[in-house]
Amino acid sequence: MTATRTPGLPVVEDGSLISTNPTTGAEAGRVPVSSADDVGNAVERARTAAAWWASLGFDGRRARLLRWRTLILERIEELAALAYAESGKPHADAIVETSAAIEHLDWAARNAKRVLGPRRMRTRLVLAEHSGHLEYQPYGVVGVIGPWNYPILTPLGPISGALAAGNAVVFKPSEYTPVVGQWLADTFAEVVPEQPVLQAVHGFGEAGAALCRSRVGKITFTGSTATAKKVMAACAENLTPVIIEAGGKDAMIVDADADVRAAAEAAVWGALTNAGQTCIGIERVYAVAPVYDAFVAAVVEKAGKLKLGEDIGPMTTPAQTDVVRRHIDDALAGGGRAVLGGADAVQGSLIAPTVLVDVPEDSSAVREETFGPTLTITKVSDADEAISKANALPYGLGGSVFGKKNAIRIARRLRSGMVAVNSTLTFVGMGNLPFGGVGDSGFGRIHGEDGLREFGVAKAITVRRGPSLLPAMTFERTPQQVQRIVKALKVLYRN
Ligand code: NDP
Repeated sequence: MTATRTPGLPVVEDGSLISTNPTTGAEAGRVPVSSADDVGNAVERARTAAAWWASLGFDGRRARLLRWRTLILERIEELAALAYAESGKPHADAIVETSAAIEHLDWAARNAKRVLGPRRMRTRLVLAEHSGHLEYQPYGVVGVIGPWNYPILTPLGPISGALAAGNAVVFKPSEYTPVVGQWLADTFAEVVPEQPVLQAVHGFGEAGAALCRSRVGKITFTGSTATAKKVMAACAENLTPVIIEAGGKDAMIVDADADVRAAAEAAVWGALTNAGQTCIGIERVYAVAPVYDAFVAAVVEKAGKLKLGEDIGPMTTPAQTDVVRRHIDDALAGGGRAVLGGADAVQGSLIAPTVLVDVPEDSSAVREETFGPTLTITKVSDADEAISKANALPYGLGGSVFGKKNAIRIARRLRSGMVAVNSTLTFVGMGNLPFGGVGDSGFGRIHGEDGLREFGVAKAITVRRGPSLLPAMTFERTPQQVQRIVKALKVLYRN
């Protein structure tokens, strides 16, 4: 049966999920829809695969993961074309996204052994007759649930960490970007054909919910704060631990000694890359009074040069267009002014860059995640006011500071998991830095050492090396030995 299609909206026909280009409506590809039973079966297959994958050891997994990295690199153009076909993402945006994904895959593969492998801990005098050992063992199967906006990078970060740590992965891509998700699983199978170590399952929210309830060892979720709460509730049924990478409303602060043109260039890219559909995108700028006018003028000049449909792609999902329109209207109704774009910016799935000033702080354009090519710029008296306004929302994902003397101090005071000083979004591209937020933006980390440790269970082992001088942990201790323990404690811990 053929259903009516709306460009960008996925449809199910004859048991296949079909994704379409948001501008042209052309079919990007089709994948089989997974029922809850299919998801359960995939997890069962993954359990066997996990044992085999773990048995390869860090070195064996590293070799395979680096081969996968190279394969993705060799076929980067094909991947970028697929991302365009189903999300409308401009070619350059897809290349930048993939380059960050490759960095994380490379870093996780090369560093998992050092970060997670067995190590001897320093001896503690109180238990000097035992040696301490620590290692991080895989959970077994990790479920990865991903969004549509960065369908390559957002899943590949946690998938790289989970695989490098020795887990098998069952991956549920967004219903809007299943074809890219399947491509990732298929290319992995080319370098690891023996077992289904990375599988993709497809469908709508129910497939994700089934994955949450499937008793996997851990779930890593990237998506909206609202869905994150449903994911946590489903995971709570089996005490399945979760990592939550949720939404944001990131702010940039432009201080008095900032390079204003560099700040404007970064604000325009940070706000408008991927048509603003970026969790760590800059959605608000607080610029101090002395630089405000020059900054606004530079942003308008630079954003005004961008070509709609070329530099700025479409909204990937039709619902997103309505959110952006509502935020622009709300900002203007509240007394805000559009110095670029504005009420007429929405042209079908394309939205012209829109820069809003004088927008009240209680407007939805300032308080809620817009996820479109818009930016509010607000004049503040000093950096303290900028920080308090930037920190006023429940979200706390990333952020950016432009300035010289106080820039790092300001960065430390931003309530967020990540900040880029004199640039934007940079932290997402460094393989050795953790990625994640606070508050409504989630918890737990992907990427870097902290991200790797999320995918291993800390296992502590002690090994007796000789008899106990202070035998505390036995009923066979004597009163004299207990007294010696007291004396020893006073020597060890008094100062
Ligand atoms: P959603 O929260 O709508 O969906 C995310 C994923 O969860 C999708 O695969 C979705 O499947 C799935 N899902 C939906 N319902 C359930 C459920 N009940 N149980 C389990 N899984 C479910 O997010 P979007 O895809 O719209 O992505 C945009 C959001 O992601 C923005 O808020 C953005 O800020 C955030 N994001 C956060 C990032 C971060 O690292 N912090 C990075 C990128 C984006 P389906 O699509 O099939 O419904």
